[in-house]
Amino acid sequence: MKRDTHLVVLLLLVIGCSLASLTVWKVLASRERALKEVDVHGLNLTQALATYSEGIVRQSSVLLLGLVERLETEGSGPAQIERLSALISRQEPLMPQLSGITVYDNQGRWLMSSNGPIPFGANSRDRVYFIHHRDDPSPETFIGPPIQSRSNQEWVITVSRRFNDAHGAFAGVVAVTLGIENFLRLFGTIDVGQDGAIGLSYTDGTLLVRYPFREQDMGRNFSKSPIYAKYLVDRSVGTASFTSSLDGVERLYAFRKSDRLPLITTIALGKHEALAAWRTEALLSGVVVTGLLGLNGLIGWFLIVDIRRRTTAEDQLRETQQQLLSSNRQLELLAMKDALTGLANRRCFDQSLALEARRAQRERTTLALLMIDIDYFKLFNDSFGHVAGDVCLQSVGKIIEECVRRPSDLAARYGGEEMGVIMPDTDVEGATVVAQLILDRLALENIPHNASPSGRVSVSIGIATATGSQLDHWQRVIEVADKALYSAKASGRNQWLIGV
Ligand code: GH3
Ligand code: MG
Ligand code: MG
Repeated sequence: MKRDTHLVVLLLLVIGCSLASLTVWKVLASRERALKEVDVHGLNLTQALATYSEGIVRQSSVLLLGLVERLETEGSGPAQIERLSALISRQEPLMPQLSGITVYDNQGRWLMSSNGPIPFGANSRDRVYFIHHRDDPSPETFIGPPIQSRSNQEWVITVSRRFNDAHGAFAGVVAVTLGIENFLRLFGTIDVGQDGAIGLSYTDGTLLVRYPFREQDMGRNFSKSPIYAKYLVDRSVGTASFTSSLDGVERLYAFRKSDRLPLITTIALGKHEALAAWRTEALLSGVVVTGLLGLNGLIGWFLIVDIRRRTTAEDQLRETQQQLLSSNRQLELLAMKDALTGLANRRCFDQSLALEARRAQRERTTLALLMIDIDYFKLFNDSFGHVAGDVCLQSVGKIIEECVRRPSDLAARYGGEEMGVIMPDTDVEGATVVAQLILDRLALENIPHNASPSGRVSVSIGIATATGSQLDHWQRVIEVADKALYSAKASGRNQWLIGV
């Protein structure tokens, strides 16, 4: 039973553990997959956004190249600026991303603005791009940090080039302003969740555009952030995952550095948000598996209870069987015993005599039989009553039993106050010894019997012995002993006689 229960428990444990580990493995694998998908998705997005941003900057750059060429060959006098303005107003609708084009002289004064009349005294010599071009003779395009437009307070980034006079000296700057609003409109069509962000920055970490827009981040330098400090050091494209030191949110980042322009596009997604779908799936798996494990346990519990119940029933059955067997044995014993004297009964006497007669024939031994009858017992009853007679019978029976000591001997109540003793492998001498012993023991016991001439209870004993063919009919032995018994009675009682 213990083994069965252990087997069930083991089986359930194996099933349970396999199910649990399989689920954990599946859930972890699907988490890995989800994270990988986010990375791939992020990289694709950075590609698209970088292409867009680069496109705008390059268009602006090309436009500026044409304008610079014109300003350098034709000069920047009022007539030339007039013609330039007309040209720009024709080109501008072709580039809706452009917020405006402004031309400055070498002192930062506004020579022309595509957004209308020049505000009185407008000067941009303090702007980063102006300072850059004034101090750096390079004709290359410069992408400036985000600034707030002085004309309409709009946040813009500038793409600018310098132009020189006929002597090669700094003559001024042409700048294209790109409204951040334009970028935000596109970036806003991409779902980055609550914790996500899209960023366009300069390679030195200066943030140019951030979606969602945050005023405080404009122009901020993020060169200390791990993306710049760690990942972009040896790579131009990649993904990363770390916790923001600003808000403590763990994010998944995809970043891409432009091949030709000093621009970096970054997409960040809140890791918690990115794994929301996976979490739901994992939770569902967990619930289903927990349910299955519970069911597993329940079935196991029922199984164990059933095994225990069956085992208990089997134990009870075995116990009942044992009780029945021992009752049967007792019944058998009772069926062989005489109720009054406790000696073997007549049935047992007959069976034993037949058995011992056959054995004696087989083993060529002598079988002896004593037939014992109490003398004047009728008179005993008459004088002391039947109850006293029964007690006397018990006493005589006990004495006979004590005189017959070999295990193979059998003393039995033959009927009424007559008893028989079967003694296998005993010759006449042996039988007479026992018979005499009985007479002597009774004399010693000295049970009073007034009606008997001796004044005490005595018995008469007929002895018979048989061997070989004399045992063909075992009843013959009884007859011989009986006859001897009657002779003993007739000869005065309280004695034994050997039958022939
Ligand atoms: P004897 O054998 O010496 O010739 O005389 P007896 O009186 O013993 O003669 P008998 O065999 O005729 O009488 C047997 C008596 O034994 C008859 C009966 O009353 C008595 N008896 C037989 N069985 C029982 C018994 O179980 N209990 C009692 N109390 N008496 C019994
Ligand atoms: Mg008698
Ligand atoms: Mg009798």
